[in-house]
Amino acid sequence: MASITFQGVTKRYAGGIRAVDSLDLEIREGEFMVIVGPSGCGKTTALRMAAGLEEISEGRLLIGDRVVNDVSARDRDIAMVFQSYALYPHMTIAQNIAFPLESQKLAKAEIEERVRSAARTLGLEDYLDRLPRQLSGGQRQRVAMGRAIVRRPQAFLMDEPLSNLDAKLRTQMRTEIIELQRRLGVSTLYVTHDQVEAMTMGHRIAIMRKGVLQQAGTPLELYDAPANLFVAAFIGSPAMNLVGARLVEDGRTPALDIGDQRLSLGAHAERFAGVADRYGQEVVVGIRPEHLQVPGDGNQAWPQLRARMRMVEELPPEKMVHVTIAGQPVTSDTVVEAIADSDKGIVQDLQRQADAAEVSVIARMDI
Ligand code: ATP
Repeated sequence: MASITFQGVTKRYAGGIRAVDSLDLEIREGEFMVIVGPSGCGKTTALRMAAGLEEISEGRLLIGDRVVNDVSARDRDIAMVFQSYALYPHMTIAQNIAFPLESQKLAKAEIEERVRSAARTLGLEDYLDRLPRQLSGGQRQRVAMGRAIVRRPQAFLMDEPLSNLDAKLRTQMRTEIIELQRRLGVSTLYVTHDQVEAMTMGHRIAIMRKGVLQQAGTPLELYDAPANLFVAAFIGSPAMNLVGARLVEDGRTPALDIGDQRLSLGAHAERFAGVADRYGQEVVVGIRPEHLQVPGDGNQAWPQLRARMRMVEELPPEKMVHVTIAGQPVTSDTVVEAIADSDKGIVQDLQRQADAAEVSVIARMDI
């Protein structure tokens, strides 16, 4: 296995499009790195440059210690799994899996052993004589994986390999790919637009937008300390609430004006140290859905807000509460249980009558 390193890598297309703009990113040896971002953010282009399928306009790309800018795809010792699986329809599963070995001048017995071993790893032993069209989508996806692992490459590159599967199978295959990667320990660069897939699969995640890397870090780092509003809004399901406010000074400590409510942040001065030069400015307050709670033991230190209930959405076993704070919509997936405990009547009323009640909530917030 080997690391993959992007050093200031840029891809320019005709017409001045910078599909990838000065990307600095290292996929460490044995690491599972996911690049995630909305359509057109440049993630596929980054992967294709690593694969050698796309020329690099500027910067250097290294596999291990070797600069591979000018090394052809087949000489990079990496295996790619595509969204479409790219199986040969007229070849059996065994022949499909063996295909990447054909050019390697291996003995027939060695090829057979490797194919059998890959098939065993992926639970495909019983299907080796079938044709791709005689397999289900999930099995075909496994054949595509088999074709990647049979080469025992230094790294895997995967481009949305699960997007053609239905939701249930996608979850199952997600686990299988994670297990396989952990077992083989092969450095992996995986591209998806699905943040849940990214958060559950990646040791680290790189978030891109319009060709530019926004932040790279572990799922928890991105969740707890997003570098900017884009990352804050992109990561998390349900999404982080973003509420407009004004940062003001109140009795020499910072405070927030949200609508006609003033919230002192004095008790959290340390957390908000360094905001003094922004007094008077409009800010965005980020509140994770699980950080909106009803006042109770253990959370009294956080400021209290008045919220107006809108509705309770039920998707058993979960409940989502929609409220407005100073007219701005906010959701929470934890507040309802506490409200239900403290006053079952409120929740029942709400389900009958939206916009009915005003409640107090506690918000752990970031600016
Ligand atoms: P998606 O999730 O939709 O596949 P992506 O994040 O993978 O999107 P890329 O396919 O890497 O995005 O494309 C990044 C940008 O580069 C887009 O604006 C796209 O239109 C542009 N682009 C991609 N390939 C070419 C090309 N061959 N010529 C010109 N522009 C291109």
